[in-house]
Amino acid sequence: PFRAFRVHQDESGFRSGVEQLDITALPDADVTIKVHYSSVNYKDGLASIPEGKIVKTYPFIPGIDLAGEVTASRDARFQPGDQVLCTGYGLGVTHEGGFAEVARVPGDWLVALPEGLTPREAMAIGTAGFTAALSVRRLLDNGLTPGQGPVLVLGATGGVGSMAVAILSRLGFAVTAVTGKPEAREKLEAFGAAEVLSREEAASGAKGVLGKERWAAIVDPVGGVMTADLLKSVRYGGSVALSGLTGGGGIETSVYPFILRGVNLLGIDSVLCPEPLRHQLWQILSDEWKPEKVLTAGITEYSLEQLPEALNTVLAGKAVGRQVISLN
Ligand code: NAP
Repeated sequence: PFRAFRVHQDESGFRSGVEQLDITALPDADVTIKVHYSSVNYKDGLASIPEGKIVKTYPFIPGIDLAGEVTASRDARFQPGDQVLCTGYGLGVTHEGGFAEVARVPGDWLVALPEGLTPREAMAIGTAGFTAALSVRRLLDNGLTPGQGPVLVLGATGGVGSMAVAILSRLGFAVTAVTGKPEAREKLEAFGAAEVLSREEAASGAKGVLGKERWAAIVDPVGGVMTADLLKSVRYGGSVALSGLTGGGGIETSVYPFILRGVNLLGIDSVLCPEPLRHQLWQILSDEWKPEKVLTAGITEYSLEQLPEALNTVLAGKAVGRQVISLN
């Protein structure tokens, strides 16, 4: 038997908590993993509440990230003792996830843990850090260079945001962090921000169809009104890497930033990010892009029993940096 955090939705209502389970509670899949660490992302928060609309079948073990050691494998690519990580695909959404001491997943979903990362560091990065890296990769592929001016990061204290601040600053970009938490200024500077703005300050000057050209690029895990406002102040030819919706799922914009300034709106999806880009990004995250500043100053560790506290913090938009779950 092993411990797992499960959510239930049945005739007695919605409930969640840590339970003792048997291996038969897990889906049949080729690789069995002793999970050492997981992490909490915004999507995990949604999976833990009835109105989240993430989980379709109950009971269910959420957790979209995991890192651990292979204990059994029917996949020739993985042997017992191998250190692996898994993010995205169906994990923690349609397939029992990482909030458990044991997981079983298809080999195609696994990435060998890069040499430069411990399992704990891999989960401190997790889906959020991977999404930040994918956002930066796409911005660079679209021509972004440090000489073009400041890069704006929205939701900067959050998982994707804090990781983007650390990666971009490491690559020599002047990062302007946007946050709804004025008290987090020093933390954001420790993560690598050169400037910190409130949400109102960032959106100022966005009246009319176009504003002053201010940002070389934007990393945007927020969406909604902020995306619409800030598209007006992206510099000529600049790009917005859009990954999230904590600020809303709708965007009301005009054609003008696109047709008068050649601004690019880049859609970012980490879940089905194909090979070999997935492996390349994990490799570079363990090395030249390793977000050391968040790894040192922005990690809060919780036990499986403390997981509800971490989920509530993320759902309330109060998290700063990343929340790691230890299953050791
Ligand atoms: P998180 O750690 O909870 O961070 C979200 C941050 O957004 C908050 O810390 C807050 O930062 C900001 N925020 C919250 N409510 C806001 C509002 N009403 N208006 C403006 N900003 C607000 O979440 P996360 O795990 O980083 O995920 C962020 C988003 O990206 C989520 O929507 C998630 O689903 C999405 N995501 C998408 C992918 C993908 O593959 N596309 C992957 C990962 C995550 P401040 O207080 O600093 O402003």
